[in-house]
Amino acid sequence: MHQKPDGDAMGSALGLYHFLKALGHEATVISPTNWASFLNWMPGVDKVVDFEQQPHASSDLVNAAEVIFCLDFNVLHRTKHMEQVLTKADCTKVLIDHHQQPQKEAFNYGASDTSKSSTCEMVYDFIMASGYADMLNVDMAECLYTGLMTDTGSFRFPATKASVHRMAAHLKDLGLNHTKVHDYIYDSFLENRLRFIGHALLNRMEVLYEYNTSLMYITKADLQKFDIKTGDTEGLVNYLLTIQGIKLGAIVIDRDEERKWSFRSKGDFDVNTFAREHFEGGGHKNAAGGRSSDNLETTVKRFKEIIKNYHNQLQ
Ligand code: 5GP
Ligand code: MN
Repeated sequence: MHQKPDGDAMGSALGLYHFLKALGHEATVISPTNWASFLNWMPGVDKVVDFEQQPHASSDLVNAAEVIFCLDFNVLHRTKHMEQVLTKADCTKVLIDHHQQPQKEAFNYGASDTSKSSTCEMVYDFIMASGYADMLNVDMAECLYTGLMTDTGSFRFPATKASVHRMAAHLKDLGLNHTKVHDYIYDSFLENRLRFIGHALLNRMEVLYEYNTSLMYITKADLQKFDIKTGDTEGLVNYLLTIQGIKLGAIVIDRDEERKWSFRSKGDFDVNTFAREHFEGGGHKNAAGGRSSDNLETTVKRFKEIIKNYHNQLQ
């Protein structure tokens, strides 16, 4: 899975993990970095190895593997410090992912489908087509539902096809408690996060009406003051698109190692291309991320300059 895994990355990896275990395989899930605490309820998450915490043990596992499934990313550098180990690993590498422009040469086999709502949906399809669909159980259902729910914005983004609802219905038939999953993911934060969101909306948001763009920047001091942890800033960018007429929402967070951008758009504005061209990133047409090694002020300034070239596309 990609670094700082979200619900879809963790859910697809753990869903596949439970399936492989049920078939009698030896399987390990490795995350390139730590993850948000709202994922810590997931069945099997206690067995996930954090590459940054255990680089040697993780590398040994990678080197001993016969097959590596790469889930919810399609360019190896999305695994941060794992990239080198993965590149060198001499085994079968299988990609299952729904982002644009895969790094094809890095994988032996793969399913890469940008029309899919989530990697969890693709793992579900994989299980259904494997001849062992009867192995699907509630643990797998909870994991796979997590990414299905989070990556579709709770079943509202355009990629929420009928097949997504059919999958959800099937998981319900298997005994899935979807309310429990929703509560764990969306209603298990601490007070500080809500206060932080209030601060960010009040003091860190700029609306550039001329460009139908809303921008937010989070300083290091903000992160410290509100004791913000991995995952606490997830979803913040979505508030920007709730303003009437806004077509592009952009948030930049001053992380230790880089300035991390998240972009969201409505309609035809392609943030995957935008992130690739200007911020060393990528993702999907309406949701992408990127980075900058400039300081916060400079990267925000640069964004405001760049956006001028998109005046027409943002009308
Ligand atoms: P988020 O803004 O939620 O971090 O990411 C939005 C989407 O863009 C996700 O599908 C994520 O995997 C992808 N993404 C985020 N950051 C990057 C990046 O730096 N490079 C690439 N290629 N994709 C990214
Ligand atoms: Mn995904």
